[in-house]
Amino acid sequence: MNIAVVGAGWAGLSAAVRLRQKGYSVVVFEASRALGGRARHVHSRTLNSRIDNGQHILLGAYSETLALMTTLGLDSAALLHRAPLSLESTDGSFALHVGSLPAPLHLISAIMTARGLSIVERIRIITLTRSLQRRNWKVKAGLTVSQWLHQGGQSAQVICRFWEPLCLAALNTPVQDACAQLFARVLQDSLGGSKEACDVLIPRVDLSQLWPEHVEHYAPGGPASLSVRRGKAVRHLAATSTQVELDGMGFDAVVVAANAPSAHRLLQQLAPTQSGDLYLESLARFTYIPIATLTLQLERPWHLPAPMLLLTDKPEQLQFGQWLFDRSSLMTASELQQAELTDHQDYAACQINIVISDARSMMRHPLGDVVAAITAQLQQQTRRLGPMPAVVGHEVIVEKRATFAALPGLKRPSNDTPWPRIWVAGDWTDTGYPAVLEGAVRSGRNAANAVQRALSSSSLRNVVRSI
Ligand SMILES: Cc1cc2nc3c(=O)[nH]c(=O)nc-3n(C[C@H](O)[C@H](O)[C@H](O)COP(=O)(O)OP(=O)(O)OC[C@H]3O[C@@H](n4cnc5c(N)ncnc54)[C@H](O)[C@@H]3O)c2cc1C
Repeated sequence: MNIAVVGAGWAGLSAAVRLRQKGYSVVVFEASRALGGRARHVHSRTLNSRIDNGQHILLGAYSETLALMTTLGLDSAALLHRAPLSLESTDGSFALHVGSLPAPLHLISAIMTARGLSIVERIRIITLTRSLQRRNWKVKAGLTVSQWLHQGGQSAQVICRFWEPLCLAALNTPVQDACAQLFARVLQDSLGGSKEACDVLIPRVDLSQLWPEHVEHYAPGGPASLSVRRGKAVRHLAATSTQVELDGMGFDAVVVAANAPSAHRLLQQLAPTQSGDLYLESLARFTYIPIATLTLQLERPWHLPAPMLLLTDKPEQLQFGQWLFDRSSLMTASELQQAELTDHQDYAACQINIVISDARSMMRHPLGDVVAAITAQLQQQTRRLGPMPAVVGHEVIVEKRATFAALPGLKRPSNDTPWPRIWVAGDWTDTGYPAVLEGAVRSGRNAANAVQRALSSSSLRNVVRSI
């Protein structure tokens, strides 16, 4: 049987691998030349180098993503830099490090030894987290993160220093708007799991190389095949009870793993039904929030003490930087030596990334002014870490629809659609996660499982009929 997958983001490629594993032949259609969707490499002309579309981190709790890499024969331990969760501000005013104690003591000790919080604030964080755990990580429906934190007695300072950066990083939605239940799910997976579940994993290679590009070479044996057609945007979708047509090509089923607006454009071409209209409405209900990533090319590697550090943003001064990532601190001593020996020509070793989640206010200002203000922000807030090397180039990437706004009460569509032979996958489906990589990978897996269930029961029916 032949299955089509529309979109080679993490959801579509996850679906393709599972379908191929189950013995189906799969063709993936991807509009772009690069694989990975919103988590892919791009070529920066100004830096003349291959950089990520945006800095991404994974968590130890991303079990399906790690399992998928293993399925593809990849060594995730070598490809991802893994370290216990560490939230440390560049100016040294705040620091929280998860130590080596087993769960849940790892968290309690991390919070009790955190720098920059009063003893009362530390106890309140622990009390709130433990009470959430006792409620099985369930929060009253409709609550925002801000309402939940205030009800849990969190001070303005602890919200600003601890909860807000976590919520923005996980949901890309500010605490006053973000859905408390989705945030609780992130806390459940990371803080409520084993000590390793809240490890932070930073890719050592670019996001397309991490695993998406390996899918084209996945060949688990058997007569079926898996191919990826890059640069092929699917424009037309039609379906009958016996087959699906994509731009005139026939398949037994399709997984539409495009982003929600593009999936909407394709699905609305299908025969209108009442349930179809309701389904389309659920796809049109999303609103989106941008993320910006500023890559600065330095004249030499910086050697920061950690690959990921917290910045204090001051939007009124256009200092929008929230997180600072240093590629050189991910490199081994010999890799760094090599980079320095080659006269600083190893571009990646000399790059730092500054992440601006919820970049809506940043986008109201001229980019040149923002870059200058963030560079000044770095110089001011990293003084204790030694002089910042000179900036020799920069690139700003703004993903306008980086994630959907994770608002309370948002109803997300399931993988099953009202149309026969058509399924969807993507971080926007009803995964229980916010818009994150692990949600996308799980959505792809769930769509593949649903295809298999439906096709095997319909072939069984055909066999019974023919008897
Ligand atoms: C800047 C940024 C930073 C992020 N940081 C993190 C992070 O640190 N951790 C984390 O877990 N998540 C992060 N995310 C979220 C994460 O990237 C997404 O959740 C995930 O990549 C979504 O994958 P997807 O497959 O669902 O969708 P997409 O990646 O959007 O994939 C959809 C694919 O479909 C293709 N397509 C669309 N229409 C068609 C068509 N008609 N025909 C053919 N192809 C089509 C698109 O080109 C695209 O490749 C971040 C996102 C951004 C933008």
